[in-house]
Amino acid sequence: VIEIRGIIRNFQLGQETVYVLKGIDLDIERGEYVAIMGPSGSGKSTLMNLLGCLDTPTAGSYNLNGQDVSQMTDDELAEIRNKEIGFVFQTFNLLPRTTALDNVALPMVYAGASKKDREHRAAEVLTDVGLADRMDHKPNQLSGGQRQRVAVGRALVNKPSIILADEPTGNLDSKTSLEILQLFDQIHQAGNTVIMVTHEEDVAERAHRIIRLRDGVIESDIRNK
Ligand code: ATP
Ligand code: MG
Repeated sequence: VIEIRGIIRNFQLGQETVYVLKGIDLDIERGEYVAIMGPSGSGKSTLMNLLGCLDTPTAGSYNLNGQDVSQMTDDELAEIRNKEIGFVFQTFNLLPRTTALDNVALPMVYAGASKKDREHRAAEVLTDVGLADRMDHKPNQLSGGQRQRVAVGRALVNKPSIILADEPTGNLDSKTSLEILQLFDQIHQAGNTVIMVTHEEDVAERAHRIIRLRDGVIESDIRNK
């Protein structure tokens, strides 16, 4: 599904150019479970943002499901993102004044689904992530782990081909982290491609492939299982 060639990403900060990704080649097949590791500042989130079509590279190509997304306009990217990508963040990024059900249904609004379809599908997904009894709760009425479940539900609602998670357990205690990781294992077992950034070796060990970044390049890429 993912074919990346010679990706470079620089940022311009006034007069200074910050060189972040310095030539990344990467292939990820459908159904893989990949962990991305590496020191702080090595470019993990920058790479995830490119993979998730939240950003475009300075140079190089990114082919996603047969389409070159590296040259797309913001509108085209937004459409791909909504259809193909589910993104989970460390800080959940939920709408604070909106119920779990409506947070999960939001990507379907952008996809143009009817209210009835949205509510039906969002309820189904919330049940899958173990929140059947929390649908009408707002984020501040939920625990951290429950908030992250809502975020995972939102990522799944449009049945994307790829689930990206940037340190999804970074703000959770170890017991809650384990529950969220088990949810990602299930999502992978259901046939989804899962790509997860983590700082923790035992989290990375759950994946079938571990990619280590260092200073903007891939230092190692190993099969784990
Ligand atoms: P962490 O483990 O701390 O999350 P990371 O590997 O995710 O780190 P990135 O967020 O990808 O690191 O950042 C890599 C480098 O790119 C950092 O030095 C950062 O300052 C720089 N960087 C990222 N985004 C920008 C930006 N928009 N403008 C300028 N520099 C940026
Ligand atoms: Mg990061």
